[in-house]
Amino acid sequence: MAARVILWALSKRPRCFHRPSISRSISTLVLGEHENGSIKSQSLSAVEAAKSLSDDNSVSMLLAGSGPSFNEAVKHAASSHPSISQVLVADSDKFAYPIAEPWAKLVHMIQQREKYSHIISASGSFGKNVLPRAAALLDVSPITDVIEISGSSQFVRPIYAGNALCTVRYTGANPCMLTVRATSFPMPKSSAESRSNGASISQVDLSALDEDSIGKSRYVKHTSQDAERPDLGSARIVVTGGRGLKSAENFKMIEKLAEKLGAAVGATRAVVDAGFVPNDLQVGQTGKIVAPELYMAFGVSGAIQHLAGMRDSKVIVAVNKDADAPIFQVADYGLVGDLFEVIPELLEKFPEKK
Ligand SMILES: Cc1cc2nc3c(=O)[nH]c(=O)nc-3n(C[C@H](O)[C@H](O)[C@H](O)COP(=O)(O)OP(=O)(O)OC[C@H]3O[C@@H](n4cnc5c(N)ncnc54)[C@H](O)[C@@H]3O)c2cc1C
Repeated sequence: MAARVILWALSKRPRCFHRPSISRSISTLVLGEHENGSIKSQSLSAVEAAKSLSDDNSVSMLLAGSGPSFNEAVKHAASSHPSISQVLVADSDKFAYPIAEPWAKLVHMIQQREKYSHIISASGSFGKNVLPRAAALLDVSPITDVIEISGSSQFVRPIYAGNALCTVRYTGANPCMLTVRATSFPMPKSSAESRSNGASISQVDLSALDEDSIGKSRYVKHTSQDAERPDLGSARIVVTGGRGLKSAENFKMIEKLAEKLGAAVGATRAVVDAGFVPNDLQVGQTGKIVAPELYMAFGVSGAIQHLAGMRDSKVIVAVNKDADAPIFQVADYGLVGDLFEVIPELLEKFPEKK
């Protein structure tokens, strides 16, 4: 596989080496994720990212799945973002669950027919699973975790756990394949208004996909946390607990506080490794990347691997009994204190969620 990503610059604050983009037609395929009949917000952020590639970008969204809620998601996709001009629908039981092998084959097959200049997915577990496989089938090098786009072939991505930003220029063959951090491409409220004239919907001819495309993975089951709670990746408020909580029993205070605030619960890796909470709550370099409006960290030291997942939060509040804890270097509001006194007081003072 040809590695054609050229490293242009390493810097804490990236300089954008803007070159006028070469005039060639830009068309982008966005891999759409859906749940309960709706397009996930991170996929709409991927459309936002596609918009930044070029003013005259023609954006198609690929949706795969089957069943009634899939049909709802297709309708939603057609009206979900004004920049989507076409929704490609792969309706088959093969895609009933988001398994990477058939998805990668699907993307490969569609790219051979349609010759998109770019393929984009949100940088969640789905995109990180599917896009590199599809890139390998297409023999191109993907660029992952993009946080800024300056032209159709120049991108900024974090390296060294977010301590440096790297500007890269893609000089490889089409398609240029990207995973983008949803938090860096929020959908503006104006775009969120659904378009009145829906995008066109086209069925993908799947006759060329044989049984082999299913690959060796089999869907077993899906377990999810409290469905009432907002999704950690897109929540407006995140309340995170660290090892300072000391036990799974004590961690319930974090859950109560999150409930009162209508927030998602996050955790450090230390807490996950100790078995207090499942690993899908982990925030950080090897967990989820979040950038909520408010991030509250209790008993979190602020290791760089944790900061890599939350430093872009708009307002950071930290409570730690150690005044020298590194979390205070990124906190907007810091309280040196014992969380076993602070959290009960907050629980008492915050009103019940209506
Ligand atoms: C390759 C790699 C990847 C990693 N990925 C991640 C990742 O994705 N996410 C992640 O979080 N970590 C990750 N880590 C682990 C990371 O290095 C830290 O070990 C971890 O973040 C520490 O978690 P913590 O802050 O909960 O625990 P600690 O570092 O032990 O901090 C606990 C804090 O609680 C405070 N405290 C204790 N008692 C109280 C109290 N009563 N009141 C108030 N404060 C109190 C202490 O002062 C301390 O600052 C990774 C490490 C490696 C090597």
